[in-house]
Amino acid sequence: MLRELFGTCSVHRVALVEGEAPIAYGLIRFDRAYLKARKRLFPNSRSFVLGGCVVSLEDRKAAVRYCPRCREAERAWNEANPGRK
Ligand SMILES: [Zn+2]
Repeated sequence: MLRELFGTCSVHRVALVEGEAPIAYGLIRFDRAYLKARKRLFPNSRSFVLGGCVVSLEDRKAAVRYCPRCREAERAWNEANPGRK
């Protein structure tokens, strides 16, 4: 989305911040409810990065720009929907 190119979360209208996220390797299937919630409630949480199907022993973190309020929203959603990610 255009707004994200300029570093603002389109949902929370706050600046994205530099941070890091763990890289998730392997085939990951997300719950449909989680994907829907992410799109609507926390599109810029970037709490992980998909690393594909290659397992690496190197650094398992990636630099990302994320929205702190999205991460809060994601955490709250995960707590309200245990085991649905
Ligand atoms: Zn946000």
